[in-house]
Amino acid sequence: MSASEQAFARALAVLPGGVSSPVRAFGAVGGTPRVIAAGEGPELVDVDGERLLDFVGSWGPLILGHAHPAVVRAVAEAAARGTTFGAPCPGEAALAERVVAAYPAAEKVRLVSSGTEATMSAVRLARAATGRDLVVKFAGCYHGHADHLLVQAGSGLATFSQPSSAGVPAAFAGCTLVADLDDEAGLAELFDAHRRRIAAVILEPLPANCGLLVQRPEFLAALARRTREEGALLILDEVITGFRLGLGGAAERLGLEPDLATFGKVIGGGLPVGAFAGRAELMDRLAPDGDVYQAGTLSGNPLAMAAGLATLDVLEAEDGWARLEALGGLLEERLAPVLEAAAVPARLVRVGSLFWLSLQEGEAPRRADAIEPAAAGRYREVFHGLLERGVALAPSAYEVGFLSLAHEEEHVERLAAALGEVLQTAGGAR
Ligand SMILES: *Cc1c(COP(=O)(O)O)cnc(C)c1O
Repeated sequence: MSASEQAFARALAVLPGGVSSPVRAFGAVGGTPRVIAAGEGPELVDVDGERLLDFVGSWGPLILGHAHPAVVRAVAEAAARGTTFGAPCPGEAALAERVVAAYPAAEKVRLVSSGTEATMSAVRLARAATGRDLVVKFAGCYHGHADHLLVQAGSGLATFSQPSSAGVPAAFAGCTLVADLDDEAGLAELFDAHRRRIAAVILEPLPANCGLLVQRPEFLAALARRTREEGALLILDEVITGFRLGLGGAAERLGLEPDLATFGKVIGGGLPVGAFAGRAELMDRLAPDGDVYQAGTLSGNPLAMAAGLATLDVLEAEDGWARLEALGGLLEERLAPVLEAAAVPARLVRVGSLFWLSLQEGEAPRRADAIEPAAAGRYREVFHGLLERGVALAPSAYEVGFLSLAHEEEHVERLAAALGEVLQTAGGAR
């Protein structure tokens, strides 16, 4: 037994599924997850000392790669001054100022400790501001694991074929209306059926939790227009896209003006951070100024603020977003011949530093139900083939890949070479 297998067996005895978050358990691809001892730049090092070229990046936060020296230094220096004060610290305003300066609709920011808290709290605020209960979300979009948002929520849930979770009261789920992406008519019907009762529409502007479902600009524009007409608030969930697609997130890229936006992942630089932001007049409804309660013992703690600020500093100083775009372009270029020669249908969907391998025929899917189950079967084989060659993609066909500033041309080429070998024989062909 390898050290990794031993470590995971030990975890299985005391952690449900051996993990602290379900998709890490390899349930969708089979096999035993590697237990990781360290991360260095573009690589993970497991407890056996084996190195994996990592394209998961802890599912999004590590836009600089693992253990970036500037982040490690900032966190160490902050830790030496104390890890949490339970009182205001300068880092909070500093990080909030960055959001306000960068993001289209942000005038004030509330810091939390996860993306889940950010979306949950933004929805509460929207309900208070509109005096309405209903929330519209889209099938395949994931907004964290708050009860009323765990309805047709993509990724881990698509993977485990659970339409929602046990333990969510029907009354909660009943406040959530689920629409399909890429479907203006369906959305109009939904709005017509619930005139002026919808508090908010929450959306991943670039849905990235159920493959990478690039939306038509016309659909996004129609959605934004109708949301406004109904007096509902538009909440953009930028937990993946915020500060990854650029300073202004997906909103800027797609020309959207949300009422509220939620952040996580990159903004915390690998520490637990989330945030939500919006116009001052809305955000001032939050306690202590307003009547919407929201709190957190470790919210805005100095360690997390230091990691987020250091990450944004490096991104800005190194022209990070332009470099990531170039790296993404290179990935497309290097994978093109590999995908062309593949024994199974294979397409790369790529936006900035996010990418997804779609292993089915035809156009790239734009909605959750356009993803074929057979593609997930093919992915299993590709995933394990890559892992055997020392390359780590996400252990689920529905999850995207993440490029970081630690990746260089040679790493993209290693991925292309490994994928070339795997795809030549995938699907039992040849
Ligand atoms: C990851 C994610 C969340 C939840 O964030 P956590 O920090 O895992 O709670 C919410 N929305 C989107 C779009 C995400 O990708």
